[in-house]
Amino acid sequence: MAKKLIKEVKPYCNLYIDDKTGISWIEDGNTGMGHSVHPNIDITGSVRGMKERGYWDKEDKIVRSHGWQYNISKFVCNDELDEIVAKHCQCEKCIERRRAGN
Ligand SMILES: [Zn+2]
Repeated sequence: MAKKLIKEVKPYCNLYIDDKTGISWIEDGNTGMGHSVHPNIDITGSVRGMKERGYWDKEDKIVRSHGWQYNISKFVCNDELDEIVAKHCQCEKCIERRRAGN
């Protein structure tokens, strides 16, 4: 994957995209938090475990990007930074979502 800077949202807060998967995210250096519109776990985490425990659905599509595993079948948008990511994420599910007008 290649991590590409899309833009600086505000000082020390940058919007990135993985040009292979289309996954987009914000790294906020002010809070140390990452923002994405899809639930994610560390690359060492167990996707199977998440599915077996029922947090994620069996059919959910998981995409790996920059050290994380994203559940692109689920969409979560809680704050203004998430909303910016929602506009830029180019993963296949976000493309479908926009096509459906959401
Ligand atoms: Zn997406």
